[in-house]
Amino acid sequence: MKPTISDDIIENALAGKTTKEDALSLLQVPPFELYGLADRLRYESVGDIVTYVVNRNINFTNKCIGNCWFCAFRNNSGGYVLSIEQILAKVKEADRLGATEVCIQGGLLPDVDLDFYLNIIESVKEEFPHISTHAFSPMEVYHAARQSDISVDEALVELKRAGLGSMPGTAAEILSDRVRGIICPNKLKTSEWAEVITKAHRTGIPTTATMMYGHIETLEERMDHIMLIRDIQKETGGFTEFVPLPFMPHNNRLGEEMQKAGRYITPGTEDLQMYALARIILNTHVKNIQSSWVKLGKKLSQVALLCGANDLGGTLMEEKISRAAGANNGEYMSAQELEWFIRSSGREPRQRNTIYSRLFDSVDVGKANIKIS
Ligand code: SF4
Repeated sequence: MKPTISDDIIENALAGKTTKEDALSLLQVPPFELYGLADRLRYESVGDIVTYVVNRNINFTNKCIGNCWFCAFRNNSGGYVLSIEQILAKVKEADRLGATEVCIQGGLLPDVDLDFYLNIIESVKEEFPHISTHAFSPMEVYHAARQSDISVDEALVELKRAGLGSMPGTAAEILSDRVRGIICPNKLKTSEWAEVITKAHRTGIPTTATMMYGHIETLEERMDHIMLIRDIQKETGGFTEFVPLPFMPHNNRLGEEMQKAGRYITPGTEDLQMYALARIILNTHVKNIQSSWVKLGKKLSQVALLCGANDLGGTLMEEKISRAAGANNGEYMSAQELEWFIRSSGREPRQRNTIYSRLFDSVDVGKANIKIS
């Protein structure tokens, strides 16, 4: 018979002191017990409100000097680079549809420096001062600083001065140098990712945190990753949310290698275990666990709301990166549809801003006759 959750483990979870051994042993209990504990902690931490943000993803280029094995987005032969005018046209459209945020990320271009990134932020903020710029992964910030031959600190100060509101904590993949050395050898090392993030927090730029799991990493490495996020949060308090992201195996080398080894996408029960463990390990430290409808699909992302998650992410309006890697859950979800999914889970929907500092009353967005260019 499978073990049940011990009182010690529950006590540790309530106190925000879950150990790696606790976390690994929680993977042995019947899944519904694990989901139940996560759901209880979620309720005690944030109640029944489930948030979402009205936003638009803008991927300004798919050209990249990187060589990540999991990437299906990079295209150096027939790729694109959006002009500032094209970026602004997308922001304008997002603004018309009620977006409060644009999430701007792209590949690493060989011939740009910090000015390129500053120009994007300054141009957006000049025309749309009311829209939050949630932009540039730690890898992009590191690249910009390196290209300009300045420190990451200096680059972050300049980006903040230009109007950068917050950063996506992407490029994290699995924070283990063993794994990174195989799947993204040219990317930041674990300590460098943590350093850029910590420096961003200290510069007054909050970030999200992510984890791309379900490929060559071990369960221990997943737990180490979430615990590192917890350690950074204890030091800076700068993470707004944690987003577990299952690996998308299509059209990329890593997926092909896995398929040869007889491995496919993560089972839904395992995805839910990761959401539950994220809630449990990060309890009292990171309040918001985001369920990604792009990666999990709409139905499973709704179920994740019963396993520790309290946020459904964004409307996105266009989502190119996961789609290239085989996610076929759509590029846009209206605020009405998000609210429907939340209400039909017995929870209360609220639109939020990027950093969860403001909740809006139910809004009349997404009713426009939407045509996304
Ligand atoms: S994941 Fe990002 S950094 Fe890596 S190859 Fe793709 S676009 Fe480049």
